[in-house]
Amino acid sequence: MRKLAAGNWKMNGTLAALEEIRALLADHPAPGCDMLICPPATLLAPMAALTAGSALALGGQDCHARASGAHTGDLSAAMLRDAGAAYVILGHSERRADHGESDADVQAKTLAAWQAGLIAVVCIGETEAERDAGKALEIVGQQLAGSLPEGATAANTVLAYEPVWAIGTGRTPTAGQIGEMHGFMRQSLTARFGATAQEMALLYGGSVKPSNAAPIFAIADVDGALVGGASLKAADFGAIVAAL
Ligand code: 13P
Repeated sequence: MRKLAAGNWKMNGTLAALEEIRALLADHPAPGCDMLICPPATLLAPMAALTAGSALALGGQDCHARASGAHTGDLSAAMLRDAGAAYVILGHSERRADHGESDADVQAKTLAAWQAGLIAVVCIGETEAERDAGKALEIVGQQLAGSLPEGATAANTVLAYEPVWAIGTGRTPTAGQIGEMHGFMRQSLTARFGATAQEMALLYGGSVKPSNAAPIFAIADVDGALVGGASLKAADFGAIVAAL
């Protein structure tokens, strides 16, 4: 399976940040892994113009579950696709926390993404309190079951395990904790979706940076990373791409 280095720019970046994309493509014109950047939606179209024909794919960070209508401020999956996205991040813990998104919301959005021809990058992960209570596997199992519709395949879905306590904190789980969770995810997904789950990309996310990328990528069932802060600079993200 080809690995995936994905960057989530969150609410960062204006047109000036296109310089980072120019530098990334200049340094990594033919990377040994798939490369994805999910910028703010305002940058999708200009970034798509810059990256046409390149090895860099683009994605949105959320979409509405409906195809169109009276939903002020929201974007449909088809709009993201129209602006140049091939992927969309769904159910990020920041959206679950800031916008009250439930597993059922994420499931509906995932269906909308597929319908528009986008690959859904579905995020799951436990809080620190849940891990301390010994409930990490249970919580992630529930999120997986609730957030994914029937019909998930390796072609339409990527999973991102992002423990909430590791996001933007500089703290990462141990290799044992990541390996246990990714093995559990592979097993649960295979039980529900069958052989296609063996080929589904399972990304780890949470304080991935150039200095810890290689050991994280060496863990079984880790097929890449969803990178926040370290995806904003071409040099950092490029080093993570090189580690894959
Ligand atoms: P950081 O890499 O900044 O910890 O963010 C991870 C993340 O939330 C990616 O979606």
